[in-house]
Amino acid sequence: MKCRTCGKKASVNMRQHKLALCKEHYLEWIPAQAERFIEKYRMFTHDEKILVAVSGGKDSLSLWDILLRLGYAADGLYICLGIDEGIAYSFESQRLTEKFAAERGLKLNVVNVQQEYGETIPEFAGRSQRGKGKPCSVCGLTKRHIMNRIARDFGYDVLATGHNLDDEAAVLFGNTLTWSGEYLLRQGPVLPATPGLARKVKPLCRLYEREMLAYSLLRSIEYIYDECPFAEGATSIYYKELLNKLENDRPGAKLAFYLSFLEARKKGLFAEPEAIQQELHPCRSCGQPTSAPGLCAFCRMVKKD
Ligand code: SF4
Ligand code: ZN
Repeated sequence: MKCRTCGKKASVNMRQHKLALCKEHYLEWIPAQAERFIEKYRMFTHDEKILVAVSGGKDSLSLWDILLRLGYAADGLYICLGIDEGIAYSFESQRLTEKFAAERGLKLNVVNVQQEYGETIPEFAGRSQRGKGKPCSVCGLTKRHIMNRIARDFGYDVLATGHNLDDEAAVLFGNTLTWSGEYLLRQGPVLPATPGLARKVKPLCRLYEREMLAYSLLRSIEYIYDECPFAEGATSIYYKELLNKLENDRPGAKLAFYLSFLEARKKGLFAEPEAIQQELHPCRSCGQPTSAPGLCAFCRMVKKD
């Protein structure tokens, strides 16, 4: 396999794009692709202040790296969840994220859930009705709350996450199996800002997981290899495996699935019926929009209601 650009030996072969590239040209191709998607979906401009949610994993650290290489003003946000039983997942991911930021002189906001709200994610989950033992629902609620809070309090225009195509296709697959109209409507590369909530964007949404893995390895980005221990057995992982089988037989199927969804959405296939438009108002405690009367779900959880 030869690099399409220079003819030297290729390092990465992408069957789905019928494209092979050497290390040098691959490391140029990925940011160029990201830039193309940032512009195409009007995610943000060079004048805006970006907050990147970094978990210490390959996708979010690579995203931060790419945005900086493209000349964007991007700070990081690390949320310490306190998931350290068995393996020191939070400890290690925080260490690697802080190292990444320190080595490059970047600004990293760190929020420690236990220090700020009194309990770790597994502790919150242990006594919550949500999730029944599995902390993922509590964890998602908490991360959303903190990301919105930091974006608002520190004046960031936009919040960027490292979701890749495999993540997006798996979520889409799940939502399609149940035809969850409301979720389908909200899934996409950009979620516009609403009163009290920052714009959310996913610049890597069209890049395959293995493309991001190759990028992080070729850029020598040190990231946490371990998944969160609670990810094991997650339905999204099962969907990813199914989609990988499909992709293996038909290279490009995953991307086509996601892109044809975006096309259908653009054509209004998932237009919002009146019935699912919810009345939102600010939470009495934190001010973030909620449909619940009084306190939002996060504040109710923290206040042990
Ligand atoms: Fe949180 Fe871990 Fe669940 Fe992800 S897998 S939502 S990090 S508890
Ligand atoms: Zn609240």
